[in-house]
Amino acid sequence: MTGQGANNSDGGVLADVGLHTVVAIANALAVATPESDEAALGELRRVLVIDPPSLTQLEPKVVAPMTELGARVNAICTLLIDDRIDDAAKLVNAMLGEHSAHPHLSLEGGRWRLHHHPADAPLVAMWTAIAAEVFARIIDAERHRRIGRCEAPGCENLYVDTSKNGTRRFCSTTCQNRVKAAAYRQRQRR
Ligand SMILES: [Zn+2]
Repeated sequence: MTGQGANNSDGGVLADVGLHTVVAIANALAVATPESDEAALGELRRVLVIDPPSLTQLEPKVVAPMTELGARVNAICTLLIDDRIDDAAKLVNAMLGEHSAHPHLSLEGGRWRLHHHPADAPLVAMWTAIAAEVFARIIDAERHRRIGRCEAPGCENLYVDTSKNGTRRFCSTTCQNRVKAAAYRQRQRR
């Protein structure tokens, strides 16, 4: 899993594929509650499609620890959204201590790329380390206000606001359109 992103003042942390993936894991397994292990594995297959080595490690025994990881990411995001940076930093430090990253370069298509782990690293340890690192970088870059929770009624999904002005309010265009359509109907009724 690479940690590449756009090269700007915050080191590209908001564009980091790892950040978007761990937030998607939290949404799929902790914000939502899959009905069965099979459903949870289906969600993980969808979210981890960007990292083929992770897909090869998906089996029923990873559902519980990946769900726990999703819950921890959800907890860290809740603290960041509430501006409780000190408490969030404690959780992130605990995660960093459990599964430290092992950065190394590997040659891909004639180009050296920075990876957090060897491609065959155990799934849960690798994604826990990635989660810890991306949230450490967000706090370091003071970009925690770019983590948000969808404002659409009935949706609790987390999102990463990569918009230029930081004005995002919804997890998806589906939620945005739903709220817009409801507001439109409200106006028509007046
Ligand atoms: Zn939403």
